Amino acid sequence: MSPYPFHYHRAHTLAEAVTLLAQLGGEGQLLAGGQSLIPLMKLRLARPGALVDLNFVPGLSAIDEHSGEIRMGAMARHAALEDSELVARVPILHDCAAGIADSQVRNMGTIGGSVAEADPSGDWVAVLLTLGAQVRCTGPQGERIMPVSDFVTDAYTTMLGPAEIVQEIRVKLPPAKSGGAFIAFKRCASVYASASAAVQLTLGDGDICRDIHIALGCVGLTAVVPIAAQDALRGKPVSAKSIENAADAAMAAAEPQSDMRGSADYKRVLVRAVVKRAIDIAARRARGERVEAGHEYVARV
Ligand SMILES: Cc1cc2nc3c(=O)[nH]c(=O)nc-3n(C[C@H](O)[C@H](O)[C@H](O)COP(=O)(O)OP(=O)(O)OC[C@H]3O[C@@H](n4cnc5c(N)ncnc54)[C@H](O)[C@@H]3O)c2cc1C
Repeated sequence: MSPYPFHYHRAHTLAEAVTLLAQLGGEGQLLAGGQSLIPLMKLRLARPGALVDLNFVPGLSAIDEHSGEIRMGAMARHAALEDSELVARVPILHDCAAGIADSQVRNMGTIGGSVAEADPSGDWVAVLLTLGAQVRCTGPQGERIMPVSDFVTDAYTTMLGPAEIVQEIRVKLPPAKSGGAFIAFKRCASVYASASAAVQLTLGDGDICRDIHIALGCVGLTAVVPIAAQDALRGKPVSAKSIENAADAAMAAAEPQSDMRGSADYKRVLVRAVVKRAIDIAARRARGERVEAGHEYVARV
């Protein structure tokens, strides 16, 4: 199917994009990588009267280190993040970027578009939650920065106001003896995960888990933060038993729906498995081990 007719505007600066969106009112919608928006338009499930293209705004795809933070421009493509040596210093970010869909989608899709879309099946929000990431936005009233935990308010719903644009995502470089891992379980590469787990932890003396953040993807209307699972490990030694306890608590916190990606019961069992694996890999990385992790597939296509 082809989309309903729409006007196309090419923004050359962020300020121009904000002005165009404000002038267009509810008619205008931003175009980033188009990997969510264009399929929805082609299916006629989205019907914007006009698109404001961010692809020609200089500087929006930069990936820089500044004041102990990694700053990722909203238009940074998943593939650029996957290839970035700076991003690789926070392995959970690399796990996420490298596993999204296939190379076609990764070459076009952007981190800003993913966060703004707030798709409960998307990978970035869960990962960014465990890192306490900040979202920098620009709109007609100027600039504001908020934690990603405040930014996403519901499925496909964010704090973005009319004509407001995600400009950048900021992540603090984790302290020493920290490690993270993102495990997403999928039917095959080009589909969203059935369940995923992001874990970022910091070890103290004697292999005690000094701090831990866990977020579950695809098993709720937004990413689920399983508080009891975090409590099962925080301040305790990282052992087979404490990992089991955390995985059980994460499974209890999941709120999956049955759908084409599996039944709710199947997804709960998946949550337990991916949380266990993500904690184990995060702890090994925190101890200095190099471990490959990322998306796991039922089948490769
Ligand atoms: C076949 C397929 C498989 C996929 N699998 C996965 C997967 O496994 N995991 C995963 O995480 N994602 C997956 N995706 C989605 C992909 O990650 C997209 O990159 C993402 O959904 C949206 O990013 P985009 O840049 O393409 O945004 P667009 O599609 O261009 O925009 C999405 C929405 O966000 C708005 N928007 C875009 N940029 C901004 C901005 N800077 N500020 C404010 N609003 C903005 C747009 O107006 C639109 O409403 C998949 C997509 C496809 C087509």
